[in-house]
Amino acid sequence: MRILLVNPRGFCAGVHMAIQVVDQALDLLPDETIYVFHEIVHNKHVVARFKERGVRFIEDLAEAPAGAIVIYSAHGVSPRVREMAKERSLRAIDATCPLVTKVHMEAIRYAKRGWRILLIGHANHQEVIGTLGEAPEAITVVESVEDVASLEIEDAAQAVYLTQTTLSVDDAERIVRAIHERYPEVKAPPSDDICYATTNRQAAVRQMAPDCDLALVIGSKNSSNSVRLTEIAESEGAAARLIDDADELDRSWFEGLDRVLVTAGASAPEDLVAEVCRRLVGWFDAQIEVSSIIDEELEFALPLRLREMMVERGVDVGDRSIRFTTPQVTEAGYGATPLTVGASDRG
Ligand code: SF4
Repeated sequence: MRILLVNPRGFCAGVHMAIQVVDQALDLLPDETIYVFHEIVHNKHVVARFKERGVRFIEDLAEAPAGAIVIYSAHGVSPRVREMAKERSLRAIDATCPLVTKVHMEAIRYAKRGWRILLIGHANHQEVIGTLGEAPEAITVVESVEDVASLEIEDAAQAVYLTQTTLSVDDAERIVRAIHERYPEVKAPPSDDICYATTNRQAAVRQMAPDCDLALVIGSKNSSNSVRLTEIAESEGAAARLIDDADELDRSWFEGLDRVLVTAGASAPEDLVAEVCRRLVGWFDAQIEVSSIIDEELEFALPLRLREMMVERGVDVGDRSIRFTTPQVTEAGYGATPLTVGASDRG
């Protein structure tokens, strides 16, 4: 059996930054309880590992005592949450991904001009709830092509669509097409809202799934981008399973299979990917083949509030950018079988 380990996969720059924020806060304030509003990223292992280190995840700011440190998750929050934090004198550190903040800023800008905003996304996702909160009177959430039929837009020339960052590129395109069939004048956002990480991970699966019998997507069930990767693999003809870790693997899934694609959602740590590969190598003496469609290199700075707190405590902050690059696969970490290099790496 061959394992096709696809790149890019797993952590994106925004998730990497958000996790670093909680890590740094724990190091900086060892005597304080760190509160995180919502799961810092949608991955049960990341959350469990921080809980073991004493972090408290809350869904209501009232659970944090006045004056406590509270970190906003990578998905962003609405202005009302920021106000409530101020009212409770909480010391907020914002770990919102800058690419989510970009969508917030677009929503604010268009709402100020009096435009109608069609926000394409999942209404109950934290990111959409946060963006909607920026201008609830101006924004209509559009979840599906069916929703487009019930839209009532008075002046489509003063309307724009924005999107959740982790949507399926294909689903979003279908919804945009339906919007333009009804209202051709509706404007596109100034730049794509679906982020680079979502786009690249989906493109890699779309390209490689047709050659595979089964796609294993490592990620949690509440991770929007992980669920989308599973759907894309299925739409390309591979069976697909979304698993949190190697312990969910079942040997019977692999009977008679030749090629298994392995990828991971943007919030899934790479050690879980390595463990899945090791398990398959151990069971089936599988060969691992790495195949990349693009290298990612991006930097986000740590939030200003955290850097200020570091300076106050005499920590040398340097530039404190979080540099993120495509994970490097090493033979030792992924199994006993030597790695081969995929076609796209050779080119
Ligand atoms: S998936 Fe995209 S928007 Fe979400 S945290 Fe990662 S880089 Fe940011």
